[in-house]
Amino acid sequence: MTIAGAAEGPGAREPDHGGWIDVSVTLRDGMVHWPDNPPVSITRQLDISKGDAANVSMLSMGSHTGTHMDAPLHFVPEGRGLDEMDLGATMGPARVIEIDDSVAVTAAALERHVIEAGERILFKTRNSDRSWVDQPFDEDFVYVSAGAAAHLAARQVRLVGVDYLSVGGFKSDGAETHTALLEAGIWVIEGLDLSRVSAGEYEMICLPLKILRSDGAPARAILRPR
Ligand SMILES: [Zn+2]
Repeated sequence: MTIAGAAEGPGAREPDHGGWIDVSVTLRDGMVHWPDNPPVSITRQLDISKGDAANVSMLSMGSHTGTHMDAPLHFVPEGRGLDEMDLGATMGPARVIEIDDSVAVTAAALERHVIEAGERILFKTRNSDRSWVDQPFDEDFVYVSAGAAAHLAARQVRLVGVDYLSVGGFKSDGAETHTALLEAGIWVIEGLDLSRVSAGEYEMICLPLKILRSDGAPARAILRPR
């Protein structure tokens, strides 16, 4: 277990989290986003330094920005929105599994880990080797293959989390992986920063914003070693 003390990003002051590790990326103006999704804009609309009574910012971004969750509605037309998620889905024990494969999480790799029904599984891959949040979009990020998604659906896991912007690939297995997981009722967290955690058992809390019939929403996710 390594917990780096360095603050993330310019101007960040890392508070004492009391044993919890923040695995969310920091939302910022101009940050990386999925190519056909809206750009991320965070700008001061009211500004004390310009004579306003308070500082107030305007946020403009896609619902799948930074660390966020996918609802079934993202790929299933009549599926549940994130406002209909049971809170137990994202709070409780979670397992971080490290994957060496530089292309994808495959079903063959998952066979080596005994995955049980109801588990919350987070995949740490080489995506976590760098601070992707302030770099250009990477078309070659490590994703969950359609075969691995089918494996996870068959195992009836409760939740899957990944360390880049999508659980499915950019060049392949995008819709297939999403559909396999979301149709199986598996909740998905994307855009996790797992650079400061290693494989093992954790307690997790992840709460997405409550937006009516939302296909996705930014979330804060934290882990604590068990
Ligand atoms: Zn998403």
